[in-house]
Amino acid sequence: MDMEKLVSLCKRRGFLFQSSEIYGGLNGFWDYGPLGVELKRNIKDAWWRDMVSGHDDLVTLPGAPAAYEMVGLDCSIIMHPQVWKVSGHYDLFVDKMVDCKESKGRYRADHIRCFPVQIDGQTVGWVSSMKEPEEFAKGLSNTFDKKVSKLFGGKETKIVVDSHVSYSTISVPDRVKVLGPDASELNTLTEPRDFNLMFKTIVGALGTEEDAAFLRPETAQGIFVNFKNVCDSTRVRVPFGIAQSGKSFRNEITPKNFTFRSREFEQMEIEFFCHPSTSRKWYEYWRDRRMKWYTDLGLSSERLQLREHHQDELSHYSTGTADIEYAFPFLPAGEYGELEGVAHRGDFDLRSHMEGKLDPDSKPDLKVQLGPDGKPKWRGSGKDLTYRDELTNERFTPHVIEPSAGADRATLAFLCEAYHEDEAPDENGKLQTRVVMKFHPRIAPIKVAIFPLVKKEGMPEIAQDIYRKLKKRWNVFYDEKGAVGRRYRRQDEVGTPFCITVDGQTLQDGTVTVRDRDSLEQKRVHQDQLVAELETRLS
Ligand code: ATP
Repeated sequence: MDMEKLVSLCKRRGFLFQSSEIYGGLNGFWDYGPLGVELKRNIKDAWWRDMVSGHDDLVTLPGAPAAYEMVGLDCSIIMHPQVWKVSGHYDLFVDKMVDCKESKGRYRADHIRCFPVQIDGQTVGWVSSMKEPEEFAKGLSNTFDKKVSKLFGGKETKIVVDSHVSYSTISVPDRVKVLGPDASELNTLTEPRDFNLMFKTIVGALGTEEDAAFLRPETAQGIFVNFKNVCDSTRVRVPFGIAQSGKSFRNEITPKNFTFRSREFEQMEIEFFCHPSTSRKWYEYWRDRRMKWYTDLGLSSERLQLREHHQDELSHYSTGTADIEYAFPFLPAGEYGELEGVAHRGDFDLRSHMEGKLDPDSKPDLKVQLGPDGKPKWRGSGKDLTYRDELTNERFTPHVIEPSAGADRATLAFLCEAYHEDEAPDENGKLQTRVVMKFHPRIAPIKVAIFPLVKKEGMPEIAQDIYRKLKKRWNVFYDEKGAVGRRYRRQDEVGTPFCITVDGQTLQDGTVTVRDRDSLEQKRVHQDQLVAELETRLS
């Protein structure tokens, strides 16, 4: 799938816009348009319904060690600064950054090369890469393609990185050269240095460093610090989960790949609290359940993979972490990007937030920085976040399984998966290329479009009646403008699963056609049966 085509469709049809576009945009920030907001909301709603509100705590789900409860939270974005000190984000949530002395650009330190782009021997720009030149030559980045193609219109050609040739879809003459490993411009990167990814802000009028606060880089900490509140205010009993979706912020050094790596994004996180003895089983349950959620909503299993972290990749407190990854089309063949991480976090988080109350003999976690006195550098809350099982009277610190997903990355994956081009007959029966977004009906932004075949003979009135009736239940769309074939294609392009047309026969027998986006089949259904018919087809 050609990513450029999807990006252009997203803008043309109102799925995604660059933030502050009329001012040139702001790197790493995106706005969802009228259709994008529906799509993303449907994805978040599906997550909430499937994981929280539709969850039945009286039933043991397949694969789950026991029945369990799920509740939700909606925490503030700015929290007490101590939260981030205790969680480790203040000291350790860093990326390595390098500066390029030549290009004056800043890059993540894994960008090991910085190449000057030359046209007729003149440096016209710079491009950084995470790869060795040979690898780099195989797939130049989209941004670079765009940058250079802006400079030149015209023919498709080759790009030369040193002696390695990359065939690119862009249109540039072969005068363009990207200097490679033998060029003197290499090794112009400064030593890597730490760059904290948290956005800093000031709370209150005084504006001193003492008042510094942070925009949350994850929603998870809001759940941990409310663990006691939830236990005290509800009747949940371990095992149970707390879910939250909301904005998170990370000052990513190199935001890229459309919305994949943004600086402001939404997460959908669950912290699942369980007894240490069953935690491994719960980890396996959540890992498999979350993987299935994506395939149930239409991601193909060929493009998805569950990647268990190797032992040496695991945090010291974790006995298991798996990433759910998707083969995004902007990645080189064989590479996957993370959609969600499912981590066994042990009792690390609750214990860190208690810390002040820890048994002095227990070893402080390695991730908690030690001060000069050998004690944890940042004090925990001192509150008791242990749990007492009322039936057994056992007191313990629950272990946590964390399925942590990104709403924007999921939306992007569903967009990529949905994009299809096929052939369909136009009004004259001639086969034409058709762009169709094959969204699962549950997440499709518009569920049904309703058309009168022509704007006369009472057809618009009947169609509008149907529209008003369906609008009470679903997001539906009415359109009477232009040839009906063109109206069908506009709906295909935004992924509307069904189109209803009121035609001459409707006036006689009350039936309308229901056209299926994917099979193109049309079936006649009586108006009075429409709601029931759509209910079955949309579920
Ligand atoms: P990555 O390795 O890609 O930076 P991560 O491992 O840091 O991701 P987590 O901290 O585990 O990500 O966050 C959980 C989820 O939040 C990710 O799986 C992803 O879906 C989403 N996410 C994280 N960072 C971003 C970002 N910069 N833009 C969009 N979504 C993000």
